[in-house]
Amino acid sequence: MRWDDLAEDPAVNGESALFGASAVTTRTFDSPEFRGVTFHEVRARSILNRVPGASRMPFEWTVNPYRGCTHACVYCFARRTHSYLDLDTGLGFDSQIVVKVNAPELLRRQLSSRRWQGAHVAMGTNVDCYQRAEGRYRLMPGILQALRDHANPFSVLTKGTLILRDLDLLRQAAAVTDVGISVSVGFTDTELWRTVEPGTPSPARRLDVVRALADAGIGCGVLMAPVIPFLGDRPEQLRDTVRAVAAAGATSVTPLVLHLRPGAREWFTAWLHTHHPHLVERYARMYAEGAYAPRWYQRRITRQVHELAAEYGIGPAARASSREAPEPDAPRAGHHGAGPEPTQLTLL
Ligand code: SF4
Repeated sequence: MRWDDLAEDPAVNGESALFGASAVTTRTFDSPEFRGVTFHEVRARSILNRVPGASRMPFEWTVNPYRGCTHACVYCFARRTHSYLDLDTGLGFDSQIVVKVNAPELLRRQLSSRRWQGAHVAMGTNVDCYQRAEGRYRLMPGILQALRDHANPFSVLTKGTLILRDLDLLRQAAAVTDVGISVSVGFTDTELWRTVEPGTPSPARRLDVVRALADAGIGCGVLMAPVIPFLGDRPEQLRDTVRAVAAAGATSVTPLVLHLRPGAREWFTAWLHTHHPHLVERYARMYAEGAYAPRWYQRRITRQVHELAAEYGIGPAARASSREAPEPDAPRAGHHGAGPEPTQLTLL
């Protein structure tokens, strides 16, 4: 592995050459939840990462305490970033997890720098910061405390129910700065979930997170991503999902169609061959031009979801108390199969 060249996806994250080879400690844990998973503990040199200027991402600064993700979503665009470590972008991405063990102390130090201007910090932009590893390493409490103590605005995008462990900290932070939380739920079809997002909490449990956050007075948006063509895009599927999102008390719902960048594309196509071989050709045509579905398709999905959202009462009125729900910056592009496709980004 090229530990001396631990670059994030340059389209997502500007960090590079973070670690020296001597900084790596490799561990496994003999518990059912981590069976088959290897952790590579490293001490990062920097944790506040500037998104390259050319990026179309709507945030400038990110914090990513992990690399790789045991949530194992087949379509995950961050898979490609594992190749920068000479790690496998398929199963390796799901099971070889890099942990930046000094992330909290490093962030606190960097936030204290006179050069730091207090810009918004986005988390969950590359991989999920509330993936299972966080249950053991507990990096997020220290990160949230540092952000809270500096009254530094931030957002979190996650599929992890573990975020509720940090509810008090989120509440404390929201009292002093802008905090945006978004949960990713692309569909509520449990059959589809089991095969395409095998390591994640179920969509129902993620919506419970939305509900719990709403009950705690912390507005939470839902990134409805990815909407998966031919598998999760039937009108009744869209309706079921938006209805459930509304019932959970989400402040917004933002649909984003699946995109398939290199790394994710090969893995997703192999999955299609196994689970839905009859769709392989349709996908080849749908994504013939590249990573994105055709614009007409994206617009159609966006319109359908917007109409359903209006019908179920999710919209601007519900987001009026924006102090707690600045989700526009959080979910527009993240690890959850969401692409920075401008036509998709209109918030309701
Ligand atoms: S899409 Fe998000 S939750 Fe799923 S594997 Fe990627 S980083 Fe993890």
